[in-house]
Amino acid sequence: MDYQFVINSLYDKVSNEPLQGAVANYIPELAKVNPKYFGVALTLTDNTAFAIGNADIKFSIQSIAKVFSLALAYSLIGDEIWQRVNVEPSGTSFNSLVQLEADLGLPRNPFVNGGALVICDILMCQLEDAKSQLLTFIRNLSDNPLIEYSPNIAASEKTNGFRNIALCNFIKSFGNIKNHPNDVLDLYFDLCSIEMSCSELSKSFLFLANNGCKTTDGLKILNYSQTKRINAIMQTCGFYDESGEFTFKVGLPGKSGVGGGIVAIHPNLYSIVTWSPLLNEKGNSVKGIHFLEQFTTETQYSIF
Ligand code: GLN
Repeated sequence: MDYQFVINSLYDKVSNEPLQGAVANYIPELAKVNPKYFGVALTLTDNTAFAIGNADIKFSIQSIAKVFSLALAYSLIGDEIWQRVNVEPSGTSFNSLVQLEADLGLPRNPFVNGGALVICDILMCQLEDAKSQLLTFIRNLSDNPLIEYSPNIAASEKTNGFRNIALCNFIKSFGNIKNHPNDVLDLYFDLCSIEMSCSELSKSFLFLANNGCKTTDGLKILNYSQTKRINAIMQTCGFYDESGEFTFKVGLPGKSGVGGGIVAIHPNLYSIVTWSPLLNEKGNSVKGIHFLEQFTTETQYSIF
């Protein structure tokens, strides 16, 4: 398979499509991004890497980071984690409150904001300094000590994060947040503010395509079963109320963020990342989904 040829030709094709969608503007800092950026990076499990476009510009990875926090929490407490967060697709938007009351504060899955807040709470209970240990974990996954939180993005989100503040306090009222909601929110906003490029993200997600082991030094992050389960949750819940559509079109487990990034995993084969900040009404990157749909069609590899 000539991957570079495939991504180059699809990149040209998708780049030339008219711009559709809008940048996320409910976090003012995110609205400043150039909507024309478009990058793609692909890393195979043998560490061969391919890239095109703005693949080396760092962007706000937003909800993609929820996979890192889940992986770390899962590695720390194992299956106990499922007593605090469910594994069902929500069919609602990432910041919806509607199901939480009927579900007695048990978030539907770890990728909706409520679920990610509970995971942050777990990390704070387990770790001495969750903020820095989480960053160390992500730096280790990407073999890159330069990965950072963005204080500007975190502050911008904190000032405008009324829904997340409501979600965290609401879950706290059911007893499913143990720490002070303000502290949990701080960690959550920091988590969402992490900045990485397509190439860095693609590399750091490769352990999920490699049965839980890093491909560079063989370090075991998760066991086989845990890896399979995280991929399963990405498949069913990674795109909120567009998860079915993404599975239908792309057919890979993946995770999106409102910064316009998408990561998708082909178990045992590769990790691919696209970044284009223009989002559809579900908060997922229009060009990213379009590119990936054609990528899995062209390459003809499928997990199904
Ligand atoms: N930080 C964003 C929020 O909490 C994350 C949403 C996303 O990327 N889908 O609203």
